[in-house]
Amino acid sequence: MGYQTDRPRAADIEEQIGLLNTQNARKRTRRKIVYTTLGALALLTIAVVAFTVPTPRTHKRNLIIMISDGFGPASETYGRSFFQFINNLPENYTTPLDDILVGASRTRSSDSLVTDSAAGATAFSCALKTYNGAIGVDPSGKPCGTVLEAAKARHMHTGLVVTSRITHATPGAFSAHVLNRNEEEAIAVQQIGDNPLGRTVDLMFGGGACFFLPNTTVGSCRSDERDLFTEAGKYGWSIMKSRAEFDQLSADKTQLPLMGLFASDHMDYEIDRDPNRQPALHEMAEKALAILDQHSDNGFFLMIEGSRIDMAAHTNDPAAHVHDILEYHRTVQIVLDYVNSHPDTVMISVSDHETGGFTLGLQINETYPDYIWYPQVIQAVTNSTESLARTLCQRTWYFRSN
Ligand SMILES: [Zn+2]
Repeated sequence: MGYQTDRPRAADIEEQIGLLNTQNARKRTRRKIVYTTLGALALLTIAVVAFTVPTPRTHKRNLIIMISDGFGPASETYGRSFFQFINNLPENYTTPLDDILVGASRTRSSDSLVTDSAAGATAFSCALKTYNGAIGVDPSGKPCGTVLEAAKARHMHTGLVVTSRITHATPGAFSAHVLNRNEEEAIAVQQIGDNPLGRTVDLMFGGGACFFLPNTTVGSCRSDERDLFTEAGKYGWSIMKSRAEFDQLSADKTQLPLMGLFASDHMDYEIDRDPNRQPALHEMAEKALAILDQHSDNGFFLMIEGSRIDMAAHTNDPAAHVHDILEYHRTVQIVLDYVNSHPDTVMISVSDHETGGFTLGLQINETYPDYIWYPQVIQAVTNSTESLARTLCQRTWYFRSN
């Protein structure tokens, strides 16, 4: 039975978990890999292929949702062309996402022609369309059950792996319920387990430590004095804040729940990332898979987001954009390898919207539509505009004060 839809929804996913759990007589396991992406204004998408592979039955039931945030068709074309160019690959090169393209999804907002990340993520997590800014709530502001919470209710383990603040819109919409995405202080509180459902998240890797620190601490971005790292202890969390601690983790000795926040704010763009200070998305995903695989007798749910693909497009920073896309591709390949060796795992890769109005070609004259673009220009860039701006601001401060 194939998974064929133009609207992959969390409810469908949840239904699939149920099907996997009940169809014990079947000797076949389906692997459904959905890659979708949404053109922001056109409110449409791409993607999907469902395929069937005969495999022996096992008892694990794992669901992995990958989200390439702010990533439309032009971005995938860009990532493919750039990678092909810099590695001198043949013109028929395809990316790990191209290879699993199967269909389309719709993430439209209930109050805007252009969907934001909060409404987009809530479309995935709760299977309903809601207003821009909504985190796990419907258009009336009522909390909606998320697929992560449903997995937890089935005694599965749950994880969030992102490169944004862990309290940002996408991870927030799977693990919290607030009326506005800017309520990141409340999202952090709910994520550690202080909410009516109790703790529903078992593993969190990403950035955003500042929302867990009391306002009496340097580097806090809370308005109150709550020390969520200390409070998290009441809910059993182990906490990591450094690359060194991350490297020392071994899957079999790790205790859940586990929180690894490797930056005060968002983690760095891949183009800027210092590998001695922050792990890459693919490294966090690989470690999360190893840990969840080891500990989850009832299977697991894992959401992995290439969060900053979106932000680089928002700021029209093509070099930062493409390096985060290529890192997402690396992560997709690692997850695909896991799926291939763990047949009762379902992986879906999907995008919420497109940002930045990204386009590739430049028409070089008025009379004939010849288009050009030069990957070598982007290849020469070694920092994001965000990092360059930070450096310039520091220098301005230096000159002003000297
Ligand atoms: Zn987004």
